[in-house]
Amino acid sequence: MGRNLGPSCRQCRREGEKLFLKGTRCTSHKCAIDRRQYAPGQHGAKRTKLSNYGLQLREKQKLKRIYGLLERQFRLYFAKAARKKGVTGTMLLQNLETRLDNVVFQMGFAASRNEARQIVGHGFVLVNDKPVNIPSFSVKENDEISFQPQKKSLEFIKENIKATAERNSPAWLEVDRDHLKGKVKRLPQREDIQYPVNEQLVVELYSR
Ligand code: SF4
Repeated sequence: MGRNLGPSCRQCRREGEKLFLKGTRCTSHKCAIDRRQYAPGQHGAKRTKLSNYGLQLREKQKLKRIYGLLERQFRLYFAKAARKKGVTGTMLLQNLETRLDNVVFQMGFAASRNEARQIVGHGFVLVNDKPVNIPSFSVKENDEISFQPQKKSLEFIKENIKATAERNSPAWLEVDRDHLKGKVKRLPQREDIQYPVNEQLVVELYSR
């Protein structure tokens, strides 16, 4: 499946907030949004009041960009969430959070979701001891995540562990950084998702 290849920092500047798309750079003084807090482009610095539709659209774009998805993929996630029992917005976030690339990122084995996607795509990751190279693979409760016991993959992951040492993993995941493995303790609930995102606006957008 395709992925969003647009310049990461421009995406954050468009949304007006840090989306943490570039790993360690995002917490350094090099972060573009700390230096230029306005949208990219010739008229980016002009402030315009957004309509209700504009707010809904921006919220959808933000969520899509956080997970590095294209419109078509994101719509499929929404359609799947709408079919599930429960609050559609929460189901949408849960479906996105349980992507394997996101789980690898949240466990601290990758500096960004983009990098996590590459790690999964290169076949380094095992789910319940079986190789899985599909970044969108949806993890379930009690799934165990580990890595191929090859030197190349393990060294790469160890470097990432050092780089992400300051970051806490969410409560729904259990991580054993020393042994480079982790477990999905339970599925994520709304309170586990800490990004400043209003998923209800996304639901309203797609329900028009
Ligand atoms: Fe966004 Fe990271 Fe670029 Fe900052 S460094 S603007 S958080 S992608």
